[in-house]
Amino acid sequence: MWWTWNPEAQRLIAKIDMLLWEETNHNPIQFLRQVKTSQVEAALRDPYTLEFYDRIMREYDAYMRGESCWYPEVYPHLRNRPVAYFSMEFGLHETLPIYAGGLGILSGDHLKEASDLGMPMVAVGFFYTEGYFSQRVTEDGWQEATYTHQQFVDLPVLPVMAENGLPETITVSLPGREVSVRMWEVHVGRVPLYLLDANVEENLPSDRTLTARLYSGDLEMRISQELLLGIGGVRALRTLGYNPSVWHMNEGHSAFLILERIREYIEAGHSFDESAQIVRSSNIFTTHTPVPAGNDEFPLWIVDKYLSQYWPLLGLEREAFIDLGRHSLPWGDVFSMPVLALKTSEERNAVSELHGRVARQMWHFLWPDTPEEEAPITHITNGVHLGTWLARRLRALFNAYLGENWMERQDDPEMWARVLQIPDEQLWALRRHLKRKLVYYMRERARRRWKQGGVHPVQIIASGALLDPYALTIGFARRFAPYKRANLILSDVERLLSIVNRSDMPVQIIFAGKSHPDHEGGKLLIQQVYRMIKSSDSAGRLVFVEDYDMNLARYLVQGVDVWLNTPRRPNEASGTSGMKAALNGVLNFSVLDGWWREGYNGANGWAIGGDADISDPDQQDAHDAASLYDILEKEIVPLYYGQRSPDGMPGAWLARAKESIRSLGPQFTMRRMVKEYLDRLYLPVMQSNGQAHPAEISMPKRG
Ligand SMILES: *Cc1c(COP(=O)(O)O)cnc(C)c1O
Repeated sequence: MWWTWNPEAQRLIAKIDMLLWEETNHNPIQFLRQVKTSQVEAALRDPYTLEFYDRIMREYDAYMRGESCWYPEVYPHLRNRPVAYFSMEFGLHETLPIYAGGLGILSGDHLKEASDLGMPMVAVGFFYTEGYFSQRVTEDGWQEATYTHQQFVDLPVLPVMAENGLPETITVSLPGREVSVRMWEVHVGRVPLYLLDANVEENLPSDRTLTARLYSGDLEMRISQELLLGIGGVRALRTLGYNPSVWHMNEGHSAFLILERIREYIEAGHSFDESAQIVRSSNIFTTHTPVPAGNDEFPLWIVDKYLSQYWPLLGLEREAFIDLGRHSLPWGDVFSMPVLALKTSEERNAVSELHGRVARQMWHFLWPDTPEEEAPITHITNGVHLGTWLARRLRALFNAYLGENWMERQDDPEMWARVLQIPDEQLWALRRHLKRKLVYYMRERARRRWKQGGVHPVQIIASGALLDPYALTIGFARRFAPYKRANLILSDVERLLSIVNRSDMPVQIIFAGKSHPDHEGGKLLIQQVYRMIKSSDSAGRLVFVEDYDMNLARYLVQGVDVWLNTPRRPNEASGTSGMKAALNGVLNFSVLDGWWREGYNGANGWAIGGDADISDPDQQDAHDAASLYDILEKEIVPLYYGQRSPDGMPGAWLARAKESIRSLGPQFTMRRMVKEYLDRLYLPVMQSNGQAHPAEISMPKRG
């Protein structure tokens, strides 16, 4: 996957056949299978392309050899102490649809950065053969979901084979049967990611679809998946020869790994308490959910049905087992995955400062003798992987002004301060280029959709056919969960229209995002927004683009002028799309929630509402909407159009964009984040566990 964060490598492929590269949705494997021999031969005859090829391959080889990597130089004695990273989803690239949203993008970015730093890490997730869904919106604004069966031969995944030439499998017990699971390997640079897949011939037909889709199905499907991930994941790593020093659970979905690890120690002769203690000392848990209802919990009848067979293996009776994850609610007890993970981890963290506060409040009941503010949940604010999200041309501009090895110094504020030296003309030309690129891309999508047929003409307008490449453009792209309040900006339609429709200062807003297919509330929100967009009053300046994915996300976070985010505080644990935008010189316009509460400094974007919680949601909506309209009308639009130099450049706007990159760059990259996980969570765990892992070689070499 190295090519996914090295745009020059992508350009090399695109140079051979640009159209095919787009048609295959940036899938190099499909590309290589379909590309015409004559195109390849033409490339082979071009000395410039060959030289380009040699350079890319040299860079790739040097990267994979990992010679001058940060981690092995600083921690040579910890090179063979891998961190095992478990997550339900991984967002690495649009060709591998095994992610739904922010949680997955964070996991994917985390692996890429671990690879860049040379950290020993191995990751476990699922190979969803039908992925997450593709989104279509009907003329009436109703979201339709379609699933496509993914062929592994088309994807950058390799089967893990046993010595007998058959797929390597492990098994996990589900009620009344053993389910076999095979593994696929993805090379995230130097970090291997193993994807579990229950689509194996010896399984019952109903079990073969257990891992077909992400976040789909009922609670029994969910607990089955989580048993495969947690228990199956540990077994998979053991089969592959890993003995990780740290076990990092990204959200509670994988917390059953705790049971399997305790079972291993019991089998080796330890008591339950000793085993639980050892296991706990190497676990790390990251929570992402500030909404109690969003947490992963199971009714006890499901726990009885699915887990009673594990109790004897752990030497536990029912009540003692339930106690591991017991969450007492007014309507009865449930088994909570985050409770299991919180109680059985050495270190626990939330993903922003405010989210830390909310998490301590939410889980304080687990530590009744500790004051709430001392509940042992810290926070590490999220970040984004620079190579993945930075526009290629902006990299080139940074190469010219930030100093030679700026990529290696991305957590150094002094390096970022050099952004102020970029001449306005160059930054402005680049920002205009990126916006044009976005608009042409959207028009091209609209054209393709029109040509496919089956759509009403108004849908073509709604999808961006009338976009203006020079108008002030606002992006709003995220999952349509009600707390994200996509409709906040529609709360005073008249005022909104008066802002967007000024012919001397037009404003356009691009919406994108999926709702969970089973969530009526989210789909109704899309419909509400879509109906407004379709109306002729909006004059084609409001747009909804279907099928938000990483590809569209790159176009949007690089191409718009302003990134809008309106969550109902404090429900946005962190948010990361605004960080991607900021690094590209896009200005954030957001509620002071999650990361933006830490990033906003008064001069690098705009804050909607204030830094206080309002408990009545209607009051909060009204308050935030008023703030949103005021700032948009009186500050953002005039700053963009008003203060232009004779040659048409908005100097004050560009100063703000530079301030945004300067101040946010050092704080919100994945490099800062991963180093913080390492210093504050991984290293303490590794160092206190020196004796628990006498075998130094815990990192097998696989071909
Ligand atoms: C970055 C990203 C997200 C997460 O963004 P939020 O700010 O958390 O809403 C979701 N989906 C895609 C495709 C992304 O690229």
